[in-house]
Amino acid sequence: MTENSATDPMSIHRRAIAIDMHADTAQRLLDEHVDLQQELSDGHFDAVRAKAGSLDAQFFSIWVEPQLFGGGGSRAMKRADDQIAVVRALAEKHPETWLLATSADDIRRAASDGKIAALMGLEGGYAIDERLENVKRYYDLGVRYMSPAWSVSTSWAGSSGDDAGRTRGLNDFGKSVVREMNRLGMMVDVSHVSDATFWDIVNTSTAPVIATHSACRAIADVPRNLTDDMIRALAKTGGVVNVIFYPEHLEPGWQLLKKKVDVEIESMVKEASAAEPGDAVKKKLARDRVRQREFARRLPPVKVSRIVDHIDHIVQLVGVDHVGIGSDFDGVQITTSDLATVAELPNLTRELLRRGYTEADVDKILGGNMLRVMEAHAR
Ligand SMILES: [Zn+2]
Repeated sequence: MTENSATDPMSIHRRAIAIDMHADTAQRLLDEHVDLQQELSDGHFDAVRAKAGSLDAQFFSIWVEPQLFGGGGSRAMKRADDQIAVVRALAEKHPETWLLATSADDIRRAASDGKIAALMGLEGGYAIDERLENVKRYYDLGVRYMSPAWSVSTSWAGSSGDDAGRTRGLNDFGKSVVREMNRLGMMVDVSHVSDATFWDIVNTSTAPVIATHSACRAIADVPRNLTDDMIRALAKTGGVVNVIFYPEHLEPGWQLLKKKVDVEIESMVKEASAAEPGDAVKKKLARDRVRQREFARRLPPVKVSRIVDHIDHIVQLVGVDHVGIGSDFDGVQITTSDLATVAELPNLTRELLRRGYTEADVDKILGGNMLRVMEAHAR
């Protein structure tokens, strides 16, 4: 028996426009000079595996790590500019594979031409260097979303990852940044921000608010995740929670286990860093390689079904119009065991269908909801 092409999971998956809202591959392009036209033996993402997984659009995170490049100033801006340049060069060098995209229409065009749309979002507002005019500068360079803070608070926005963020929301400048993003049509991303910042964003923004790579605190109780009240408030703006694929934010108790393993392997990680003769970026890569290997050995596997638990939870709270996907591929040391790379994205669709979601639901979750939000920003 052959499967019915109209209803088998792979056909449904292929027909959908799949948009991943967050991957950290731009740093691999910049720091490791990886060739994404080939199937890489490491990492989670390249064009070959993206095609195998029938991905239509990838938002590349333009991430400035403040500990290495500063929380503002010329080094932070250069780090962002360098990542933007490698993403643009990728599309320019390989137009048969990539389409540099900034809009929902671009994504639809890429999908119908069998290409992958390459888009960009700024992770953490460090690169705007506390200057409002730089929001437009990055918009003009093609950036279509920004989160005000990554794990380190800015002067104008609290993070969920440090002490300052315990009380800090958006100050007046931070609110003016959100208004400027609204004016330009740049989406505001709440992933990584503090609870106070989240509420200030939702109460300031006049456009739909998104989370590009987050999950539900009701299932995995970590500060990076969203509470049920937050999910309801975000949905009220017309926005979308894009569920992350990272076990730490998906699996109850996993973060504590990871912290224990981090203590166990501390000396191993330090040795790898010391043995690496290169610069600070190379040393970080050496540390990450040890953590990847040891996390895989020492931590319990988490499956794609857990990602769908979070999707289910959001759907139960606010319906199917407010959920999407944001893998965090190449930004995490470990992934789920059966959605380990972008090539296995169809496994997510299989699990959604197994749980009774319709093709129309799958279309919305994989990318349709984000197309709607992008269109609302392009008005
Ligand atoms: Zn992140």
